[in-house]
Amino acid sequence: MTLPVDHFSPSQIGAMRDCLRLVEYRYCRKLPRKVQPLNMALGNVVHKTAAQDYTHRIDKGSYLPDEAVIALADEAFKTETMEVRWSVEEQKQPDALDSARAMAQAHHLNVAPLVRPVKVEHRMSAPIRGLPVDLVGIADVIAEFGVWITVKGHTSDDDNVLMRSGRHVRDTKTSGKAPHGIKEGIIVPDARHVAQLATYKLISQANGTPAVETWLDYVWPTKGGQSKPTRVDVTQRDVELALEDYAMLLRLYESGLFPRTGRGGWICKPGKCDYYEDCILGPSRKMDL
Ligand code: SF4
Repeated sequence: MTLPVDHFSPSQIGAMRDCLRLVEYRYCRKLPRKVQPLNMALGNVVHKTAAQDYTHRIDKGSYLPDEAVIALADEAFKTETMEVRWSVEEQKQPDALDSARAMAQAHHLNVAPLVRPVKVEHRMSAPIRGLPVDLVGIADVIAEFGVWITVKGHTSDDDNVLMRSGRHVRDTKTSGKAPHGIKEGIIVPDARHVAQLATYKLISQANGTPAVETWLDYVWPTKGGQSKPTRVDVTQRDVELALEDYAMLLRLYESGLFPRTGRGGWICKPGKCDYYEDCILGPSRKMDL
């Protein structure tokens, strides 16, 4: 049978985790998206400014001046919020532009300087055994890293010893508040984010270019903008779980059957799900039938 998609991607897995019916509307019927929550718009602002910051570093050898990042954030905010359908709680947030600036600055000042970018918004793809179409992921940035130690008592560069080096794949994750676990100092990444990193790992392995490290750079707007770069160890079990998800997605597409339930309840609301008004399940849930 002909599949409704020409590749598999982590966003399809994310939709499957949220709601199986969403997969049908978005990927099979390809109905247009209608809503853009504010948090998603703010995330897009950060991604856009970060991508230009990294590109400047690659092309010119330095990051953008601070004021240029603010100007880019303002421009991106204008574009990204054009389509936003503000929820009631978001209307109580008059400082959305301040949040966008603060998050863009937090990435620029606290994350970007730690990164030596090589490729920005890099499309990775590979055929994977058992899947009839390629697996595709777009990594925010591919970077090089090196860890040096300085031999005690010496100051010359020659005394610096390279301990380990390689490349890493990084994704920026934004949210309206601090990630879970930050107070305790241990962030436990969301399962869908781990599945995304596992996808990069799968593709890298299939192409013979294994990523040495995978990182999530968390950014949120609290207290003028905060960030927390976090290394995430993707285990072989994580890779196997991601493969199971892709196999389940394949079975869904092949069957053409999309049961009424998914794993996430947060999205099934007006202003959150693109298809709420048109979906018989959305309004029926609202009426509690
Ligand atoms: S309205 Fe609810 S049930 Fe319908 S597609 Fe959206 S999330 Fe799924």
